[in-house]
Amino acid sequence: MVKIKYALLTFDIEEFDMPLEFKQKISEEEIFERSLTGTKRILELVNKHNIRATFFVTPKFANKYPELIKEISNKHEIALHGYHEHSYNYRFIERDRALKELKKGKERLEKIIGKKINGFREPRMQKPPYSILKKIGFKYDSSLNPTFMPGRYNNLFAKRKPFFTEDIMIIPLSVTPVFRFPLFWFFFRNFGLNYGKFVTKCSLIDQEYVALVFHPWEFIDLNEFRIPYYFRRNCNVKIYQILDKYIKWCLDKKLKFISMGDYHEKNFNNNSI
Ligand SMILES: [Zn+2]
Repeated sequence: MVKIKYALLTFDIEEFDMPLEFKQKISEEEIFERSLTGTKRILELVNKHNIRATFFVTPKFANKYPELIKEISNKHEIALHGYHEHSYNYRFIERDRALKELKKGKERLEKIIGKKINGFREPRMQKPPYSILKKIGFKYDSSLNPTFMPGRYNNLFAKRKPFFTEDIMIIPLSVTPVFRFPLFWFFFRNFGLNYGKFVTKCSLIDQEYVALVFHPWEFIDLNEFRIPYYFRRNCNVKIYQILDKYIKWCLDKKLKFISMGDYHEKNFNNNSI
């Protein structure tokens, strides 16, 4: 029997705060509107293929567009992407406050969609406080990118396969064995479709799934912003087309698109999906 392989396509639905990082001016309204436009394009793309994906949403974005989040939750999984500002890191803030704020964020999303929130991703793929996540009732975390990102993190020796920490299932993003070429948005978009296919094939050699992440602001035109070229490259229509082709390719390869929550459930309860 051929073993089923999975595609875990994820999107971090957050405020478009990148211009602020590069000391650019952008109004609060525009920060949201840009992400709204990108989110709608993403939704159109995944629904066109009738596949299921995971949307990690900041409570700030969800509060601004609750109807849209509710609509997304009809077909896809909604999970939590931090609380308050997108640049927060909960490891460095006081434990009681982190617990209170993350709990509030989870409950807010649950209220909007009328379902339980099981997944978490820390902004900027930083390491989250697992014991707090467990206490609040999260089932899985997908904040681990097991590769090297200059100035951000060095996870070259972290596990590539899912594992449990404090009863939380860690679902890492995909990288190739040995050299750890990553598949996340920055590399996928800069190196294109063939690179994406290559990393997918390599990582599936010894993995059950391939996991990717993109953002809504990658699906809009970023050329008017003075941000480095490698952050803008292949944005807007191009990334839409690349991802469109990639999804078709995955479907041809009989990869099954499921949410990260489904994947956790499948492994935890040993259910087949
Ligand atoms: Zn983010």
